[in-house]
This record gives sequence, structure tokens and C-alpha cells, in this order.
Amino acid sequence: MQVDYKNEPFTNFKLPENKQAFETALAQVESELGREYDIIIGGERIKTEKKSKSINPSNTQQVIGVVSQADKELAEKAIQTAAQTFETWKAVPATARSRYLFKAAAILRRRKHEFSAWLTKEAGKSWPEADADTAEAIDFMEYYARQMDKLAERHPLTRIPGEDNELYYVPLGVGIVIPPWNFPLAIMVGMTTAALVAGNTVVLKPASTTPIIAAKFMEILEDAGVPAGVVNFVPGSGGEIGDYLVEHPLTRFISFTGSRDVGLRINELAAKHRPGQKWIKRLVAEMGGKDSIVVDNDADLELAAQSIVASAFGFSGQKCSACSRAIVHQDVYDQVLNRVVELTKQLTVGDVVNPEFYTGPVVDDKAYNKILEYIEIGKSEGKLVAGGEKGPDNGYYILPTVFADVAPDARIMQEEIFGPVVAFCKANDFDHALEIANNTEYGLTGAVISRNRAHLEKARTEFHAGNLYFNRKCTGALVGVHPFGGFNMSGTDSKAGGPDYLLLFTQAKLVSELL
Ligand code: NAP
Repeated sequence: MQVDYKNEPFTNFKLPENKQAFETALAQVESELGREYDIIIGGERIKTEKKSKSINPSNTQQVIGVVSQADKELAEKAIQTAAQTFETWKAVPATARSRYLFKAAAILRRRKHEFSAWLTKEAGKSWPEADADTAEAIDFMEYYARQMDKLAERHPLTRIPGEDNELYYVPLGVGIVIPPWNFPLAIMVGMTTAALVAGNTVVLKPASTTPIIAAKFMEILEDAGVPAGVVNFVPGSGGEIGDYLVEHPLTRFISFTGSRDVGLRINELAAKHRPGQKWIKRLVAEMGGKDSIVVDNDADLELAAQSIVASAFGFSGQKCSACSRAIVHQDVYDQVLNRVVELTKQLTVGDVVNPEFYTGPVVDDKAYNKILEYIEIGKSEGKLVAGGEKGPDNGYYILPTVFADVAPDARIMQEEIFGPVVAFCKANDFDHALEIANNTEYGLTGAVISRNRAHLEKARTEFHAGNLYFNRKCTGALVGVHPFGGFNMSGTDSKAGGPDYLLLFTQAKLVSELL
């Protein structure tokens, strides 16, 4: 009998046996660095002349792996293969499809530390952040497998005499899966396996900064016996093959997680009908955030400061849910700011292979330069009170940075920086704080730290964020516990890791038979 779903526990690295196990995994990964990885279409491994190097952001001299790059011809081959495979995959019973996910989850659980070690090396994740990413990937598979089983059950309909009526959720077809680099395992696995367990076939284009993790996950799908052609692995630059994949007439849906601008572009291209296209393409887009923590005047101020620091600087602020705006009631503003500065100055930054460092680098030179530019903008928009500088120069390190006294409409209060930068803004009262919290075009996460029940109730209805947290940090959503996804420019209002998510990759069919 199937056991109930529960979240994968996080590893306690204080226990010597866990520390030892992670060090062994890091050594194994270290011995495999620099290998070549192929494109995989219909199970066939394909090498191309054009290759891209994945670099360790903690140590830019180190090559994590070298990946063949697909061009438009191979993108075409991948879509055709996915379309052919769909004809057989859609006929595989739902419970058999979900068994592939249970199997893949079991394999990933056995290789957990190895995958987390790849995340440390390729994405610069600290041990606990990498461990949480891997745990979330396992959770997505366990959760979506059970959700698929549920979706395949007979659904209650209103009965009328003399007829048998049944509602089925059938798959859509070929999906293009385009994940980001910041949860290179969890989000990539969640997007890919939700689509495939629902009966679709996939063309997976991994993020160019983190393709090795995705290539490693392809090994797991193969080991789990997922038939060739169900997931086709097509690494390549989004700028070069992205439009081709999105515009293709055989593409039935696009599942995208990434920035606002790329999401909007995909939305526009997907909306245009192409010759030979028989459907309206569906887009599931999860996009950026500009997330706030509101602190009320009666709040637990230590909790407020700890929540801001953890949400702003975990994984160097490179989470779509990260706090980049602290909106604090004027009565407690100085106390919260001073404590946040104190805590921020204690954070250590360096190569996260060493567990002593709290956080590591930002992901690549593009992110590094963009964040440093925003720090310059911040200096003209507020008062720099912590950080504001580069870290060690062998990687893309930036010190956790706090700006005080920033106006609600300043650029660093409005634009997504996606790095270790938080802006403090003073609110006259709680209503003013909520008004500021809602003044961006995004609506992903938010938190309120308050002891005032009436204020929490007001925020419950008026704080317009997809994931709103009270008296805790605004990061760290758990699959099945905190279904995740935002409003407005944060995406198409989907909820990954929630009970409605698989519906996005299916269409409902009613069959009615006269008895
Ligand atoms: P990105 O630059 O938008 O890239 C995301 C993906 O889109 C990558 O695989 C990228 O490929 C691909 N891409 C780029 N141009 C494309 C095009 N023209 N057509 C098709 N695909 C294209 O975002 P990112 O920097 O990887 O990720 C950070 C962003 O993701 C932030 O804005 C963050 O808030 C957001 N995010 C949102 C959520 C959420 O749940 N709402 C979760 C995580 C992250 P290349 O790598 O080859 O360019």
C-alpha cells in the first residue's frame, strides 16, 4: 500500500556521519569534474561541435562540465521525437506513469548527497541550501505521482437516470520545459515530472549556467526506466533556440520559470498562431518577484530581524521568494535596522564547499555585474549601512548589502535585483506599510511580522502576494505544504507543489453513454 505523502527531511550536518557523507559526495563530484555531456533525443546521445562550459561560480577557474549545444535542427528533431513518442506515452496508464516518478524519487533519495554536492559546485549552494533543493526535487516527484493517481480516479458527477457519464483528464501533447538556474534541480525536476506524469512528452532546455545538474537528472530518468523520447534533453542558449521551440506548431504548451522579460516574450510568441498549429498554446509561467517583509510596531523585533536576514541573504538573495524590501513601522524602524545590520555583518561569504561559510557567490558574471550596478544605484537612493562591496576575487562574491531610508518608489525598491541586497523603507503606520508592500508590479511572496490580530487579518485580504507568511521568513516553501506561485508580473497564477498544478498539463474530457 502507498504510504502518505510527507516532505523529505533535511539533513542535520551537525551529526558527524552526515558531515562525513557529504564530504565523500563532494570528493566524488570533484573527481568527475570537467566531463562531457551530450544532448539526448529519443534516447540517442548526440555530440555537437558547439559546446558550452559550465563554470563553478565559487572558483571561476574550475570547469564543472562541458555540454554539447543544440541548434535549430536538433531542436526540430527533439520536437518531432517528442510528438511521435506522445502517441505511445499518452496510452500508458496514469498509475504506471506515476510509478516511474516513485522509482525516480527513490533513486534520487539514494544519490541525495551526490546531487547536493553537484549543486554546491555548479550553483554555489551552501550545504543546507543544496540539501533543501534536492529534498524539494524528491518531494515534487512523490507529490505529483500521488496527485496523478488521484486525478486518474473516477470523478463524482451529478447522475441522471439512463446515462453513464465520466470525466477524464487527458494529456496535452508536447511540452517545452524551460527552467531557471536558481533551483536547478528542484524546479527543473518539478516542471519536467509534472508534465510527464500527466502523460505529456517533454523537450527540456536546461538553464545555460546549470546544465550539468539537469544532465545528471536525465541519468535518473533513464535508470527509472522512463521510455526514450518521453524527456528529450536539449541544452542550448535560450536566445538561440528558445524562440524556435516556443514558436513550433507542434508545441502544445510551454512551462517556463525565469525572469519577467523572458516570460513576457514567450507569452507573446506563444500567442501567435503558426501554420499547421491546431491548438491555442498553453503557457505556465512562473516569473520574478520583489518581495517585502512588513514589520509592525508591536512585533517581536528579534524575530523580525532574523526573518529579514534569512530571507534576504540565504543563497545570496537568489531566490524568487527572497526579501528585497523591509518595510518597517517608524516606531521600531531604528531598532530593526540596527539589529539587521548587526546580524548581516556576522554573515560569512566564501567557497561553500567549506561549510563554515554561510553563503557563496552569485551565479555568473552577468548576475555579478548587474548586482554591482544596482549597488551603485542604491548608493544614490539610500544610505549604505552594510556590505556594498565585492567579496574574495576568485569567484562571483558580493557581500550581503543593506540600504537604509529608501523611498517606496526608488528603483531598488521596485526592480528585481536577484542578489544579496535589501532596502529598508520607513512606514508611517500599518496601512501605509501595506500600501508600500503592494506598490510593485510583482506579487510573489511577502511576510508580516506582527502581534496585532486585526492587522494580520487585514494583511490576509489586502497584501496581494501569492505566498503570504505571518511571523516567519518569506522563503522556504515546502511542496504540498505551501503551494507556490505569484500574482501579477510574477507569473500566470499557477501553484507548483499544490493540488491544482497537474490540471495545467491536462485537459478534461467528458464521455457520456446512453444506457
Ligand atoms: P531567465 O534569464 O529568464 O532564464 C530562464 C530560462 O529561460 C533559462 O533556461 C534561459 O535559458 C531561458 N531563456 C532565455 N531566453 C529565452 C528565450 N528567448 N526563449 C526561451 N527561453 C529563454 O531567468 P534566470 O536568470 O534563469 O532565473 C532567475 C529568474 O527566475 C528571476 O527573475 C526569478 O525571480 C525567477 N524565478 C521565479 C520563480 C517562481 O516560482 N516564480 C522561481 C525561480 C526563479 P539560458 O539560460 O540559455 O539563457
